[in-house]
Amino acid sequence: MKENCGVVGVFNVKEAGKILYLSLFSLQHRGQESCGFVLSDFKNVYIHRGMGLVEDVFSKVNFENIKGNFGIGHVRYSTTGSSSEKNIQPFVVEYKGKIYAIAHNGNLVNSYSLRKKLEEEGTLFQTTLDTEIIMHLIFKSKKNEFVEKLIDGLEKLKGAYSLVIFTEEGIYAVKDPNGFRPLCLGKLEDGYIVSSESCAFDLIGGEYLREIEEGEILFIGKNGLKSYYLKKNKISRCIFEFIYFARPDSKVFGKSVYIARKKLGERLAEELPFKGEIVIPVPDSGNIAAIGLAEKLKIPFEMGFIRNHYIGRTFIKPFQTSRELGVKIKLNVVPEVIKNKDIIVVEDSIVRGTTSTLRIKELRKAGVRKVYMAISCPPIKYPCFYGIDFPSKKELIASDKDIKEIREIIGLDGLYYLSLEGMLSAISLPSDEFCTACFTGNYSVETIDFKGKEQFEI
Ligand code: AMP
Repeated sequence: MKENCGVVGVFNVKEAGKILYLSLFSLQHRGQESCGFVLSDFKNVYIHRGMGLVEDVFSKVNFENIKGNFGIGHVRYSTTGSSSEKNIQPFVVEYKGKIYAIAHNGNLVNSYSLRKKLEEEGTLFQTTLDTEIIMHLIFKSKKNEFVEKLIDGLEKLKGAYSLVIFTEEGIYAVKDPNGFRPLCLGKLEDGYIVSSESCAFDLIGGEYLREIEEGEILFIGKNGLKSYYLKKNKISRCIFEFIYFARPDSKVFGKSVYIARKKLGERLAEELPFKGEIVIPVPDSGNIAAIGLAEKLKIPFEMGFIRNHYIGRTFIKPFQTSRELGVKIKLNVVPEVIKNKDIIVVEDSIVRGTTSTLRIKELRKAGVRKVYMAISCPPIKYPCFYGIDFPSKKELIASDKDIKEIREIIGLDGLYYLSLEGMLSAISLPSDEFCTACFTGNYSVETIDFKGKEQFEI
């Protein structure tokens, strides 16, 4: 399974290299496949990118030699474009003797037709990234100023894009008019920082200011901040950021992820049709909802699974053919906690159902009496076209199975999914401004390109 991406940008800071590196490290959970940064001191431009984790990719960089003042960075786990070295971001180009770079979180839904049209016009592509399309559209614009070209290019896009763009004069932070993916602004030293999540600010002493608005193009340069706006559209913030993706110590869309997750758990407790003696989370994704649930039910919260925190991608690779071992390497059951007990396992979501099935088997082996599962979101029935990597519809367990069938497959004594209303009521943002397409199939931006590409297993 693949994850989202994370972006960061800084302007007017003393050691942009170190700051971008630390910020990317904070955003590592949003993508572990590759990462990179582009920065400048207004004279030279420094680019460093590579496959792998932030720690490894930057291990040989001598930060004392690259003391830029501004730049952008990216962590990637591919949503569009195959995973290869040429697709590492930021994507960098040269135009009329100047360097431009772009880093993207999200997924365009009209990339197929845009790319086809550009290729027919003779455009040559270096990568399979959506992001490259954006660069071509910007520079194909007949407008004069960069910002006009940018607006012109962005107006042709449909779908999800939170972007940071590097120019030799400063950086741009852009959010699509639907506002699918988060992007926030903070104050840092005498300058600014933008990031997918606010957790990046904390590590480097940044102060949270605000969320970038839907359709906002924010330029950060020597004269401070200047905003431009794209045409308005229906606001569709991704609710799955609160449920699973974002770190609980972050703010996304201006709201605390921790508070949202805890409320999801509390609401789950109000709706739950079964009783148990203890609540255990599937760490780490179920932790906070489980705290909310246990508190509300007034029953103990215990750690029945212990997570090994030292597992990297390379370690797990040889065992990937055996999913059972792959799952066990990550989490181990504590029999003393669950033996002969009726337990409520809290999980943020069920996607394919395969991991959950294996985990419940482990609990049974360890002697649990009854095992119920409470999920802090409704059944995921539809794929996401806006940047969250869910498998195709036929692989989503809830797409064609009802709750009783899923309960039987996973081997549970009871299974309860939080209601759609319950989920929406747990987060203090307007309900009709969330994208809930993965639960309801109501896509706020048409997905024509993808319908035509069903054969590609999207
Ligand atoms: P499964 O039981 O196989 O459906 O796996 C469920 C687990 O996958 C839960 O622990 C979720 O937190 C996690 N999960 C949900 N969405 C994603 C995603 N897009 N990428 C990776 N893991 C996810």
